[in-house]
Amino acid sequence: MIDSMMRRLEELDPEVGTLVRAEFLRERNGLEMIASENVVSESVILATGSILTNKYAEGYPGRRYYGGCECVDAVESLAIERAKKLFGAAFANVQPHAGSQANVAAYMALLKPGDTVMGMSLPAGGHLTHGSPVNISGTVFRFIPYGLDPETEYLDYDRIEELAQAERPKMIVAGASAYPRIIEFERLARIAHSVGAYLMVDMAHIAGLVAAGEHPSPLPYADVVTSTTHKTLRGPRGGLILTNQEEIAKKIDKAIFPCTQGGPLEHVIAAKAVCFREAMTPEFKAYQHAIRENARVLAQALSEKGFRLVSGGTDNHLMLLDLRPLHVTGKEMETRLDSVGITVNKNAIPNDPEKPSVTSGIRVGTPAVTTRGLGTEEMRILAGCYFDVATDYEGTRESVSRTVQEICKRFPLYPGV
Ligand SMILES: *Cc1c(COP(=O)(O)O)cnc(C)c1O
Repeated sequence: MIDSMMRRLEELDPEVGTLVRAEFLRERNGLEMIASENVVSESVILATGSILTNKYAEGYPGRRYYGGCECVDAVESLAIERAKKLFGAAFANVQPHAGSQANVAAYMALLKPGDTVMGMSLPAGGHLTHGSPVNISGTVFRFIPYGLDPETEYLDYDRIEELAQAERPKMIVAGASAYPRIIEFERLARIAHSVGAYLMVDMAHIAGLVAAGEHPSPLPYADVVTSTTHKTLRGPRGGLILTNQEEIAKKIDKAIFPCTQGGPLEHVIAAKAVCFREAMTPEFKAYQHAIRENARVLAQALSEKGFRLVSGGTDNHLMLLDLRPLHVTGKEMETRLDSVGITVNKNAIPNDPEKPSVTSGIRVGTPAVTTRGLGTEEMRILAGCYFDVATDYEGTRESVSRTVQEICKRFPLYPGV
């Protein structure tokens, strides 16, 4: 199916078709270890590539500003019902175009410009949309950053509590893009509610783990939960907002449309519905368990090789490697791994002495390679590859490339194409 879609596009628009084919080959011939990426099912691709893209449907099922919405109403209602069931939420909005849009809408729903908000700082592992001065969140609201305990490199909950008491925020935002440990939502809810603040949990990275019970769910504790659908959840590129509170639900709907978005992407919403159904299966549960098991084994093997792991290891799908013991920068390691067919991203470590464009670390995740079928044995082999390119790049790059190609062939991306 994927091959016939690509072939048809190559016929109809050779320029774009050739580029799609090139990206397919890039993905197939390399190992994707960027923690936020994944490989979707054929059903997700079919829904995303469907004619639902033709339809305008401003508004919500049953209350649209356009005629002819009976089919997309049913699609969107199905996506909403599945999202609610999957995460045990009373309310879902499936229209956010991406995680960033979900976050902006949640802020607009519950805050006023200038309000004080606490969010995890970007250098500690937070996200741009959690108050970075170069993001709209940091320009419209007064964000106070919180971070990690310098000793343990776990979230510093005592300090978060002190800050909350001193700053009296309207909201505390939890969730991260580069934090390898379990986040204690119950504790954060107690802190937020003790100062009259909302707790917003952005579970973008861990939504798949949460759906499968491999990370505690924020739903019992948070006032609002935002997410992406394309990271561990393995759906189409998109966003999602959940809450259990009816009053907040009404505000969220208004904050998405008409406040921050126009017409919803019903083809993507159809693909979200497909993804939520997949995420309810026993296979998905096993997959999420395997992601964590692969991460645990990879982290262990890398630390035995001499890499330092921020916080000493991982509880989830990702790890942060401090490369200083092996005398290579994040930027250099990213380039070297790229050249042998492994994709990662450079990432600042806590109190990184290097510039953000260089860094002393890389972020490594197992969701995409686990989808492909790699297991713990391959994780141990990959730890050896990381060590070789860090310590003797010129001497080992050819043999490491061969190892990576052998794994790529043994675990083909979209087998059958
Ligand atoms: C990825 C991510 C987002 C944003 O997602 P986009 O779809 O890229 O806008 C938001 N929050 C966190 C914590 C993320 O990791």
